[in-house]
Amino acid sequence: MKYVLYFSFMLLAFTCFFTACQDDSCTPLSWYEDADGDGLGNPNVTQSACDQPDGYVDNNSDPNDTGAIGTPLSAFEEFNADAVSYSIDGGEVTIVSNGVPNHTSPYWMETEPLYIERVVGDHNTPGFIGERSYTVTVPLYPQLATTSSATGLGAIGIAVAGPPIFNDEEGPNRPLDVNTASGLDYAGAHNGPSGYHYHLEAADVPQNTTLSYDDEKLVGIMADGFLLYGRKELDGSYPTDLDESGGHIGITPHSEGEEIYHYHIINEFYIGTYVMLFGGDLQGTPNTIF
Ligand SMILES: [Zn+2]
Ligand SMILES: [Zn+2]
Repeated sequence: MKYVLYFSFMLLAFTCFFTACQDDSCTPLSWYEDADGDGLGNPNVTQSACDQPDGYVDNNSDPNDTGAIGTPLSAFEEFNADAVSYSIDGGEVTIVSNGVPNHTSPYWMETEPLYIERVVGDHNTPGFIGERSYTVTVPLYPQLATTSSATGLGAIGIAVAGPPIFNDEEGPNRPLDVNTASGLDYAGAHNGPSGYHYHLEAADVPQNTTLSYDDEKLVGIMADGFLLYGRKELDGSYPTDLDESGGHIGITPHSEGEEIYHYHIINEFYIGTYVMLFGGDLQGTPNTIF
C-alpha cells in the first residue's frame, strides 16, 4: 500500500512538472480545521486554498474544536415551549423566555387554571405570575474561564419551566433567610419586583410533577452557557468530584455518552431542609440576561 501511495505521489509530481498543477486564476479561500467533525471550524487553525482541504470547513465558529461536543441541542427541547424559544446562529444560541411557568403555584392569580393553595411555606410576597422578558445569548461550546465570576442579583439562568434562576441572595449582601424561604412555593420560587423566580430546589410534594427534586433532571441553563442538572447523575448516584460551584465534567442525560462540563444542584442543605439551586460562582464566562 505504501508503495502504491508513493508511486501515486511520484506520478502526481511528474504530472505537475509538465502541466500547471494549480489554476492560476483561482482566488484562495480561508479554510478552518474541523478536527471533531461537527461541521464547525477552528478559528485558530486555518489554511488558504482554492479547494476545500480534507478536514477543513468554510466557517470558524468552533473555538473548542477538540472533539468535545458542545451543549447538546436535545437539552433545549426540554424547556417549556410555551415560554421558552431558542435560536442558533453560528456558534451561539439565544434563549428567550417570557418567564411564565407551566406548573401550579399560589403565585398565580386565583382565577388562573394553574393556581393552587400553598402546600409549603406560609406567606406570599406581593404580586402574581405574569409575562416578563428574559433573553440571553451563550456560546454553544461554552468554555471554562481562567477565573470564575460571582453572580449578582437578578436572573443568573433560565429554568426549564421558563422563569429565571436567582442565586442565594434576596437583596444586596442579604442571603436568603428562613423568613424569605417560607415565602417560596413548592417550586422553590416566589414573586419579586422583577417577577417570579426560583431560588431553591423544588419540594418533594405530590403537587410537584415536573420539577427536579433529588434526581438527574435538567434544571436550566446558566448565564455562562453551562447546563444545570439535579442533584444526581444519570446512573442515580451523587457526583463526588464537583467543584465549588457544583460543576464537573461527565456525561449527562443529554450528552449521549460524551463528557461535557455541567453543574449539579449541590446535595447539601442550605437552611433547614432547603437546597439551593445555584449559590456558587459561574465557572464559564457569563453573559447578561436582560
Ligand atoms: Zn427572590
Ligand atoms: Zn454530572
